[in-house]
Amino acid sequence: MDNGPATRKLETDATSADAAPTQRLAAVRARIARAANEAGRQPADISLLAVSKTFGAAAVRDLAAGGQREFGENYVQEALEKQAALRDLPLIWHFIGPIQSNKTRAIAGHFDWVHSVDRLKIAERLSAQRPAGLAPLQVCIEVNVSGETSKGGADPSAVPALAEAIAELPGLRLRGLMAIPAPTRDVAAQRAAFRRVRELFEDLRAHGHALDTLSMGMSADLDAAIWEGATIVRVGTALFGERIKRNA
Ligand SMILES: *Cc1c(COP(=O)(O)O)cnc(C)c1O
Repeated sequence: MDNGPATRKLETDATSADAAPTQRLAAVRARIARAANEAGRQPADISLLAVSKTFGAAAVRDLAAGGQREFGENYVQEALEKQAALRDLPLIWHFIGPIQSNKTRAIAGHFDWVHSVDRLKIAERLSAQRPAGLAPLQVCIEVNVSGETSKGGADPSAVPALAEAIAELPGLRLRGLMAIPAPTRDVAAQRAAFRRVRELFEDLRAHGHALDTLSMGMSADLDAAIWEGATIVRVGTALFGERIKRNA
């Protein structure tokens, strides 16, 4: 059979077959499965959120061709442009970045999940602005587990009252907690931070909140997060490569 370069090019386009993204996806899935097995958990109980911030629609499309459906974004305008370019795909979009009040309407209208709710005012706006035709916005409270004053996230002591208030908002459905601990290469320290988040999560459940989501773990620490109970890991670099730093 004559497979000239032109034919091969067509086949490549048809399958969107840049091998690298698909291989990185397989490697991350294998890493999740290994950590789950080590923890005595089912790999299927941990979902992979691909964090596509700073990468274009083509990079998202490549991973979607490998079966990835859930994508996380940090910057509203960038996300809306990508979503518009990918409307033909059945993707689920998660907002995971800091939230300014003037962005809540766009977030409420264009995302399925928000992981970074850390104060009631933002939750109330998201609820009020969630379009009536859509299912409630699935939300996590972001917890500032490492006590860094510059970081987003609610103080752990404020989380129970915030959860009570969010549970009353009709446009939102509270699913759990999200955290971004201070980066460290010390695995014991990684685990200790994730364990504090899980304990807070268990306390909320003991007080009657029907929560099922612990969004924790990124490229550098997802294994420790899975050992401590993560149900969503948010992975950017290990899937897409290094990001060019933004100055915004
Ligand atoms: C960028 C980002 C990630 C992904 O981080 P990587 O280290 O690239 O895997 C995860 N969560 C949040 C909230 C982020 O902003």
